[in-house]
Amino acid sequence: MKVKISEYYLPLLKNVSSDIKLISHQYSVRAGLIKQCSSGIYTWLPLGLRVLQKIQNIVRQELSKAGFIEILMPCIQSADIWKESGRYNSYGNEMLKIKDRHKNEVLFGPTNEELITNVIKGDIKSYKDLPKIFWQMQWKFRDEIRPRFGLMRAREFLMKDGYGFFEDQDCAKQYYDKMYQIYLNIFKKLGVDVVPCRADAGAIGGHVNHEFHVVTKNNAEGKIFYDTKLPELIKEFHNTDQANADAILKLVNKMQTTYSATEEKEQAPNNQSDIQTANGIEVGHIFSFGDKYSGCANAVFVDKKGNKKPFYMGSYGIGISRLVAAIIEANHDKRGIVWPKNVSPFSVGLINLDNNACGIASKIFENLDDIIYDDTDQSSGTKFACMDLLGIPTQIIVGKNTLKNNTVEIKYRATDKCFVVSVSKIEEFLNTQCNKQIKA
Ligand code: ATP
Ligand code: MG
Repeated sequence: MKVKISEYYLPLLKNVSSDIKLISHQYSVRAGLIKQCSSGIYTWLPLGLRVLQKIQNIVRQELSKAGFIEILMPCIQSADIWKESGRYNSYGNEMLKIKDRHKNEVLFGPTNEELITNVIKGDIKSYKDLPKIFWQMQWKFRDEIRPRFGLMRAREFLMKDGYGFFEDQDCAKQYYDKMYQIYLNIFKKLGVDVVPCRADAGAIGGHVNHEFHVVTKNNAEGKIFYDTKLPELIKEFHNTDQANADAILKLVNKMQTTYSATEEKEQAPNNQSDIQTANGIEVGHIFSFGDKYSGCANAVFVDKKGNKKPFYMGSYGIGISRLVAAIIEANHDKRGIVWPKNVSPFSVGLINLDNNACGIASKIFENLDDIIYDDTDQSSGTKFACMDLLGIPTQIIVGKNTLKNNTVEIKYRATDKCFVVSVSKIEEFLNTQCNKQIKA
């Protein structure tokens, strides 16, 4: 997509109210990504929506590649299935309970274990149909007691939620490990380093579960503790051929048996030099929890011996909208956002500082894709500050020398490196420099 700022909708702010404390919250409001509508509820403005969609596309691609099946369940669920699982009362005040005009009790789904179990119940009949992993991207509502930090802890938020159905615990664990691998790859593609931590099972329950945390400077969400060997193993994982199933599985096992925990799960370990304490933002969570929901819904299949058995289940979440905030927390500087390549709302930002060079600027605009063009008549200082705030990875500047020398300046947001490039060589230059100057 190509946009000219003069024709786009980009409400930028110089300042935000002093109660917006977290940097990702400030930048997502200042750069015109989102606008608050009420407490913890936001409109996605065009620029923010593009980031959200780029994240969605990457997640969708990786899950589909693995053979997992996309569906879309409704936001509103009947209270009955939650009464059956016992969570209607135990979930707590975060669940938004609603009565329809016939006085039926319904709710805005905070998560979908009960619903998916009832969706597939009766349709998956035999072990021969297993395993199956379904997933969706869907808006969730949780009436958080303290919605704060913008997208980080919203009330309405976009989640990728996946649900696995298996014959037994061993099979569920195989896919749990596969999901662990896929999650590490997804977050890498999104431009954030994560640490998988053993975590508290919360309202979902179950045997094994890991949260994936983005490590940040600011303490937004909570502390995590991990063995300093873990980041090394993660590095090794990313440097290993992902098709080498044996090597990958060995590494996954190694990572899972290397110490890590969230503060909800464990107290801080006492002054151990090989244990790192950090601020973490939970961006994903995977569970293997067995028949907790299939058992009470009587969702069964016929196993190899001809016996009816409840499905062994797992669930796998990613906070799609929270990721926008987490990515900004991990990728910014004093001037604004520094988007990693794959999630930037646009790949290229074009700035024209010379009214006489509009023809050349227009040509560059025509030739490139995924580009935002500042064609306004603001001062050069304002244009530079705007492009820096927006965090577009590559800036092409048409200036005084463009007409004279037929050259532009190309500036990389992350490294601040500047290059003079002849107009006819722009595309070639961008292709060769891209990986050197911009974080994946
Ligand atoms: P938290 O502990 O942060 O309240 P959770 O453990 O209850 O989250 P899950 O049920 O694991 O959340 O949901 C899956 C993912 O959805 C989380 O890993 C997180 O990234 C995201 N998420 C959860 N609550 C919110 C929220 N209020 N706003 C934005 N994203 C959220
Ligand atoms: Mg969680």
